[in-house]
Amino acid sequence: METKNSSVTYQQYFSKEHELLRKAVRDFVKKEITPFVEEWEEANDFPKELYKKVADLGFNSIGYPEEYGGTPGDIFDQIVVTEELCRCGSTGLVASLGSHGISLPPIAAHGTPEQKKKYLEPVITGDRISALGITEPSGGSDVANLKTTAIREGDYYLVNGSKTFITSALHADQITCAVRTGGEGAHGISFLIIDTDTPGFSVSKELKKMGWWASNTGEIFFDNCRVPVENLIGEENKGFYYIMENFQAERLSLALMANITSELALEESLKYARERDAFGKPLTGFQVTRHKLADMATMLEASREFTYRVAAKMNAGVEQIKEVSMAKNFACTVSNQVTFDATQIFGGYGFMRGYLVERLYRDNRILSIGGGTQEIMKEIISKLIL
Ligand SMILES: Cc1cc2nc3c(=O)[nH]c(=O)nc-3n(C[C@H](O)[C@H](O)[C@H](O)COP(=O)(O)OP(=O)(O)OC[C@H]3O[C@@H](n4cnc5c(N)ncnc54)[C@H](O)[C@@H]3O)c2cc1C
Repeated sequence: METKNSSVTYQQYFSKEHELLRKAVRDFVKKEITPFVEEWEEANDFPKELYKKVADLGFNSIGYPEEYGGTPGDIFDQIVVTEELCRCGSTGLVASLGSHGISLPPIAAHGTPEQKKKYLEPVITGDRISALGITEPSGGSDVANLKTTAIREGDYYLVNGSKTFITSALHADQITCAVRTGGEGAHGISFLIIDTDTPGFSVSKELKKMGWWASNTGEIFFDNCRVPVENLIGEENKGFYYIMENFQAERLSLALMANITSELALEESLKYARERDAFGKPLTGFQVTRHKLADMATMLEASREFTYRVAAKMNAGVEQIKEVSMAKNFACTVSNQVTFDATQIFGGYGFMRGYLVERLYRDNRILSIGGGTQEIMKEIISKLIL
């Protein structure tokens, strides 16, 4: 939201260079995404070429090694890109475009040079699409208990099982996939890169969802898929550790999405409350509306500031496992309330399709579930404070 003092408030986090990047992403979104969002939401999909367009401008290459097509940049560059993409009003679309952001970091951090050349570079350049496969039909929270097996047979792993709710499943060329290579529990899990053209790999139809309509979500199946051992990421049976490491950035980006959701809902509400009359005066003429708006703005401000502070510490290399879980939960609690209040301010129109607050309300619901539920975040926080 362009509040009067926003540049003052956030200048400690965002430099002039960040703001130049922000303008470039904002211009791109205005031209290439916003005009088509309604259509893509209704179609439950968007053109695959959008990945390439985003990649050509370097928006998804920030922080990856330059030798594989990456662009130098810090967490706040990534934040700028996420925030500005989300301003198109469809966090579902951004989630699908962002499946790279959750599936590539394990390859960048622990992959071999050959893996990076084959599986990192072409995704960064927008020539391949990548997804992350962890959740299974039998459960997503209890990652340590996942059931998809990868049995070593000579130079291959034989993979059997399935994954569900996978973002970008129907578009993906490769899946960064958690499998069981060892015994029971967290110490028997590994990460494999699985090409989706591997014989035995199949994908369901697009899963119909409450929100995130433009996002592409599917179930995937492995039926005796032979995956070369050179596609193992890092060390065998260290996958659980890599998954937990990877969750930190995902949780930060979900907190950011929740904050932008609140920001857009507040912007819409401010506009509407000024324009809409009831009992002969604008809605802003009622103290109850003004106070609602004041609460929405206050909660958003606190959440955004906390999220940025956590991000700044992550940027400085300070461990923020507890804090990023807190930031995600706090931002989602705020966005739950703010999107509820926004639809309330809109009255019946808030329930109507075609109004942004209606989509924000629906799309917001997943943010407290994906990337680790609100309850799992609280388990993490309580373990670390007790
Ligand atoms: C639109 C969408 C996109 C997604 N994208 C991806 C993706 O790209 N890749 C991927 O791998 N996954 C993805 N997910 C899966 C998501 O991460 C999981 O849905 C989430 O982790 C929860 O797992 P679950 O749905 O199996 O719920 P469950 O684990 O079955 O949990 C059900 C309920 O029980 C609670 N619960 C579970 N364990 C505990 C506990 N120990 N203490 C207290 N409460 C508990 C949960 O909080 C929840 O309320 C996506 C999901 C959706 C809906």
